[in-house]
Amino acid sequence: MGKITIAIDGFSSTGKSTIAKRLAASLGYIYVDTGAMYRAVTLFALNEGLIDPEGKVDAKTLTDKLASLELEFVPNEDSSKSDMYLNGKNVEKEIRSMHVSRNVSKVSAIKEVREMLVKIQQEMGKHKGIVMDGRDIGTVVFPKAELKLFMTASPEKRAARRYKELLEKGEEVTYAEVLKNVEERDRIDSTRSVSPLKKAKDAIEFDNSDMGLEEQFERVYDFAQRVIEKVEV
Ligand code: C5P
Repeated sequence: MGKITIAIDGFSSTGKSTIAKRLAASLGYIYVDTGAMYRAVTLFALNEGLIDPEGKVDAKTLTDKLASLELEFVPNEDSSKSDMYLNGKNVEKEIRSMHVSRNVSKVSAIKEVREMLVKIQQEMGKHKGIVMDGRDIGTVVFPKAELKLFMTASPEKRAARRYKELLEKGEEVTYAEVLKNVEERDRIDSTRSVSPLKKAKDAIEFDNSDMGLEEQFERVYDFAQRVIEKVEV
């Protein structure tokens, strides 16, 4: 059976990873959450003291230290998901914190960070049969992906979903703070000079503001099946 590459891009907290994960499981494909990789590099920068209290990143030192950084996705049997490991330590919970969210877009705008992560991502997808989500997957990582989706939803809907998730994880945040973070990340991600977030010309735009999970999944699965059938002919 022919396998394809599926690129899912879009704004923060559009539910990309939920859909991507489920799609990958249904197709028997690998799932890669590239946001987790940028988040892990950000955690590394924070732990190394390379981001000052004002949020300024020491890009030069971070770039010099990139070679010492080891990122790995390790399957977690309890959650049946993969956890992100940074230099041998499970950092899955830490990378989802607001502290990391507040700094990740600045770290992600550094050219050398992107070059390193894009290379790893391309290697992961070289045999196809992969669903990868992020901001530049359809434009930079896999410009030839057979199926590209670009997910959007209103900032308020996205912030509400994220806020609920963070509360469930026990984090003390306000809705206003989450909304501000979502909007700020969108702004930095869309305006950075290296690989800004934008819809690839051949991506299908998918606004899920008023769509439940089941409906979203059915539609996306249907898109994928149609492309896979064509590839197989
Ligand atoms: O997907 P998630 O919201 O976890 O991504 C966190 C941040 O990582 C984004 O706001 C963006 O700054 C960065 N990112 C990126 N390119 C990707 C994936 C994530 O710049 N492919």
